[in-house]
Amino acid sequence: MDKIKMITPLVEMDGDEMTRILWQMIKEELLLPFIDLKTEYYDLGLEHRNETDDQVTVDSAEATKKYGVAVKCATITPNAARMEEYHLKEMWKSPNGTIRAILDGTVFRAPIVVKGIEPCVKNWEKPITIARHAYGDIYKNVEIKVPGAGKAELVFTAEDGAVTKETIHVFQGAGILQGVHNTDASIGSFARACFNYALDTKQDLWFGAKDTISKKYDHDFKDIFQEIYDEEYKDKFEAAGIEYFYSLIDDIVARVMKAKGGFIWACKNYDGDVMSDMVSSAFGSLAMMTSVLVSPTGVYEYEAAHGTVQRHYYKHLKGEETSTNSVATIFAWTGALRKRGELDGIHELMEFADKLEKATLATIEAGKMTKDLALITSLGNVTVLNSGDFIKEIRRTFESV
Ligand code: NAP
Ligand code: MG
Repeated sequence: MDKIKMITPLVEMDGDEMTRILWQMIKEELLLPFIDLKTEYYDLGLEHRNETDDQVTVDSAEATKKYGVAVKCATITPNAARMEEYHLKEMWKSPNGTIRAILDGTVFRAPIVVKGIEPCVKNWEKPITIARHAYGDIYKNVEIKVPGAGKAELVFTAEDGAVTKETIHVFQGAGILQGVHNTDASIGSFARACFNYALDTKQDLWFGAKDTISKKYDHDFKDIFQEIYDEEYKDKFEAAGIEYFYSLIDDIVARVMKAKGGFIWACKNYDGDVMSDMVSSAFGSLAMMTSVLVSPTGVYEYEAAHGTVQRHYYKHLKGEETSTNSVATIFAWTGALRKRGELDGIHELMEFADKLEKATLATIEAGKMTKDLALITSLGNVTVLNSGDFIKEIRRTFESV
């Protein structure tokens, strides 16, 4: 059989620890035997980020803008322990944060639903897609540790020199301070990405923030969404038979728990970070959550929602067997290959992506899975496979149909 040819390269962003090991296995077993894989490779592994003063992350984001589609492996976000472990020159920022800021995109995360893995929330019958605003708020903050008594002020100096000033707090002793921001342009892009994605996938869109307490900051989000909806999307939503509604974040959380699923939940940056972990774990496993960053200009970056699975990597380094779930990383590749196929008009590539996803799910439904899924499955007669054997089993399923 001839290998599938590609036209435009995918931007390939390699990563860290256990997911870096899976990355290699997925390429060798599931991709390279079938595709003349064309990628522009960027090594976002922490060592190489450190060597390049994190320039490689910026370069990979720029390449994504240029080519339009990227696939990314999970990467370490350094903390104090990683500074020592990797002898870092600096505590480099989260690569995902850097890439999101450059692409000004929105992250959509949806669980991969498979027979035999039932959500903990019994009434969730359909996937819940979380749209996370990928710019600003605490992810672009400035912070001060206040050493002692003094006055904190919020100051804005306009280009013409006009000054707006508010007292934040008069400190009597030590404390903490944080400055956060967002821009109307980014909130507008976020809103449009959500409305477009809702129309594409024919799902209702829910949005929640805390406008009753944050009367200017969160209220701005609410107003921008409503304006854009009324002006650009109301008619299209009505024609498609779908709904947009805004409510307080607490009310939204309460409603989500009672809902059936099958909608998009738009979240501010922090809410999306936290709630996507809750939704994914309730749907089964972090390892069954897909993630795609979509920019307002239509650039796509696909990845798994989980991290580098550090605990499994340390076992792997000690020569112990691991049973790490590669499904979300496989779906990152299939998502990216399908999109590349769609943009370049390569039907074989799109069919390949569909077929590999089906083979992955069929493998699990046949009772062959990694330990994380075996612990929660409702299927009887389960075989727990190690990291490598699970991927080999998917290949066997893929080649048998
Ligand atoms: P994690 O890598 O998501 O893993 C947390 C735990 O979840 C694991 O210890 C494992 O539980 C389970 N798990 C996650 N993915 C799994 C998979 N594919 N198969 C089986 N089990 C899985 O989060 P973390 O340990 O908090 O973070 C590790 C590193 O990842 C950190 O350096 C962090 O900065 C980074 N991170 C990167 C991204 C990203 O690049 N998108 C996202 C999040 C975190 P058990 O140990 O119980 O088996
Ligand atoms: Mg998170």
